Parts: sequence; C-alpha cells; structure tokens
Amino acid sequence: MIPAQTATELVRMISSGETTAEYIIGQTLKQIEDTSHLHAFLHMNSNAIQQAKEIDHRIQRGEKVGRLAGIPISIKDNICTKQYPTTCASHMLDGYMPPYDATVIRRILDEDAIIIGKTNMDEFAMGLSTEFSAYGPTLNPHNTEVVPGGSSGGSAVSVATHTSAISLGSDTGGSVRNPASFCGVVGFKPTYGMISRYGLISYANSIEQIGPMARSISDIQLCMSIVSGPDVNDNTTANSTPVSLSEQYNATENPKIGIIRQMASKDTRIQNILNKAIEELSSHGCQCDEVSLEMVDYSVAAYYTITSTEVASNLARYDNIRYGYDMDYTGYEYHQYVTKARARFGAEVKRRMIAGGFVPSAGYAGRYFLKALKVKSRLTREINRTFEEYDYLISVTVPILPFRIGEKIDDPVSMFLVDINTVTANLTGKPAISIPYGVVDGLPVGIQIMANSMEDAKLLQFSHILGDDTQ
Ligand code: GLN
Repeated sequence: MIPAQTATELVRMISSGETTAEYIIGQTLKQIEDTSHLHAFLHMNSNAIQQAKEIDHRIQRGEKVGRLAGIPISIKDNICTKQYPTTCASHMLDGYMPPYDATVIRRILDEDAIIIGKTNMDEFAMGLSTEFSAYGPTLNPHNTEVVPGGSSGGSAVSVATHTSAISLGSDTGGSVRNPASFCGVVGFKPTYGMISRYGLISYANSIEQIGPMARSISDIQLCMSIVSGPDVNDNTTANSTPVSLSEQYNATENPKIGIIRQMASKDTRIQNILNKAIEELSSHGCQCDEVSLEMVDYSVAAYYTITSTEVASNLARYDNIRYGYDMDYTGYEYHQYVTKARARFGAEVKRRMIAGGFVPSAGYAGRYFLKALKVKSRLTREINRTFEEYDYLISVTVPILPFRIGEKIDDPVSMFLVDINTVTANLTGKPAISIPYGVVDGLPVGIQIMANSMEDAKLLQFSHILGDDTQ
C-alpha cells in the first residue's frame, strides 16, 4: 500500500495505533525505490526506519508525541540539515554538511517529523524546471517527457508520488507554486517574514520565503502552525503569532475577488479552468470582478534585475576559501584560484552572477537596478490599493502547461516569462497559494490566490472553497 493519506490523516492513524510509523515509513521507502526514475531525491535518511520505531515505542508506552509524529517530510536541498548533505544541487557544495539545522528543521523535528530525504532542485534555486540541477533533471510523474516545474521540482514530485506527505521548498519568484501547479499538489508562499529563513541558503533574500507543499490545504495549515512565527535568528521574521489551526479567522461575508487581467493565459484550455474556479467562487457568494495591475507587465524584468543583483552578492562567498569545495591552491594567484573554483557553478548561475555584477554597477544602476526597485515599489502600491477594495486576487498559477524537457533550456528569456503570474507575490511580499484545479492533456493546472500581507491564515481558510478537502 502506498501511504496516500494526507499528513493530517496519517497523524491520526499513527497516534491512535491504527497503523504504525514504522509501517508508513517502510511503505514510503518502498515507494521511493519504485519511483526512483523520476529523480526527486538527492540524499536519503538511512535511519528513517529506526526513527519511526522509536516513535512507535513512545506511543506504545503512552508518552506524548509531537504533532507530526512519524510523518515523512522531504526537504529541498537548499535548507540546512545537520544530519544530511545540503548541496543546493550544485557542484560548488558537493557533499557539504551544514554545522546546524535551519529553524524550520528544528521546529519539525521537535514535533517528531521524519525527514525522509533531501530533494532535487535547480542549482541554487535559479530556474523553474529543475533542469538546472548539477545532478540531472527531475521528471514530471504525470508525463516523464515534461518538466515538473521548479525550482522545488523534487519536492513537488515527492508529494505528488506519495514519497512524502509534506515537503518544504523555497519560493523566490514562484519556486513552490510553479512546481505545485505542474505536479498537481498544493503549494504555499507565505507573507515575507512569516517563516524564518535562518538556514535557508540565500538566493535573493529580500523577497524569498520557505513554503510548504502538500496534498491538502489542511496539511499546509498544519505545517504552517508549526514552522511559522518569529525567530531570534532571523530579524526579518514578523513579530506575529504563528498561523493558528484552531483560531477561526472572520472570513469576510461575500468576499470580493479581483481577477488580474495581466495574468490571463493565452491558452483557452487553461483560461477555462480559471473560469470554472471563478464560477465556483461566485456560487459561494463571492463577487468576482476583473482588476488591472499595470505594473505586472514590468514585474518579470524587475524581478530578474533585482534577483541577479542579490545573487552576485550572495554567491560571492563561494570562493572555495571560506565556502565551497576544497581544492589544492598551490601555484595559483588568488584570482586564478577563485576563477577556477567558480567554474564549478553551472551555466545558469554564472549567467545570473555576471548580469548581477553589471546591472547595479556605477553608470548603469539608474538604467537597470534603480528602475527595477521603482517598479517593485509601484507594484506594491498598486496591489495595496487593490487590496483596499478586494479581499483576494486570483489567476492561474502558471499561464502555460508543463513544457518538454530541453524545450526552453537554451532560451532564458522565454523561460523567465513563465514566471509572470508568480513573481508579483514575491516582489510585494504577499502570501499566495497554488491549488490544483484541473487537468489539460493529462497535465495538472493550478489556480493561484493572493491575499494581503499577514492574512496567511485567512487565505488558507478561504482556499478550502477550491481545495479538495473541507475543514
Ligand atoms: N524561476 C525563478 C528564478 O529562476 C524563480 C525561482 C525561485 O522561486 N527560486 O529565479
């Protein structure tokens, strides 16, 4: 039997003695073997069965166990784990063992979750297809000839194939929501500051967040209630209570939904799925109107300008002296040495680092970087104004279907444009969820709902209208 139940259901079954953690983890490991051709995982936890047995013993002895006791959770390979390598799918960090656990890891381990393994991703989270992993691509379980999305592709595939009940990914410009949409699972990018980034290896730290993926919205809520909340190790965390499971958020009566015009898909089959979602929302008393966010047209250009600049700064530390792979430096001048070391980065990372060195440089900053920052603040003002009138904003998560492996790899601009519907939430710091809502040609399509900052709990509660489970 494949453990197809949601995490919420598994927690109930394990803690009531209906099944054991050992059985669930055993079945999960078997399923990982059966789906290994998809290449969702980079490193496995070889102690998972032993850890499950210990949880079972504690339950049998009547001891209190955590809220995730025995639940298989997979982790994107850019989140630091002391017990397992953390490589960002880059040869620059081959075999790197972090000296500490990220805050999210400590929080889930405190609740007795079992980290089943670390998942494949685009190198340093740059990409949206998982083709840029230095260890080879991940395949989409719905059709192995197309991409699973990215950069958290391994995480989405592991949730979709039941090799984990929940996965933690990271979302800088859509990396949780895009693969969630392409693989048919739920993915959530919280408000900036909702989850600690301590132990998340930085790509563009001013806009990125760790976010959960799961097979139900209730599981996302469960996970958020554990991993969200302030952290002394991350000064950008908001000083708010964690997303609560028990509290009822006064869902507005007859909420107003804005359908973002600039995020419409040219593919009518995809647009029809959005129309179905709008019909369902209307049948629940929501008022749905088209709204315009003019700055969305510039959002992808601004996003790549800002993120490349942060990449050039964040990845400068990988000089192979303080960070990175050990190499014999005898006979090298410093610059030769660093140049040779950086050849370990893949082509996409190099492209972003080079662009990021240029766009904020003297004489060019006004034309590129500062302009991008202006787009970011105007987009934020525009969306804040829209949220004065509307409770939620809706679109499809990705305007195209999962594309064929290799199709866009040599055409970075066409790849970047796929992010058009997701980057706005990052640039403006808003929470956004992707909910699987339809299928075209056998491939899943997700609906994205955004809410105003700090309304994460309300958004998750509201999302049940379109989700597959009810609270
Ligand atoms: N596709 C975007 C990029 O390559 C988003 C990646 C992400 O969210 N980590 O930057």
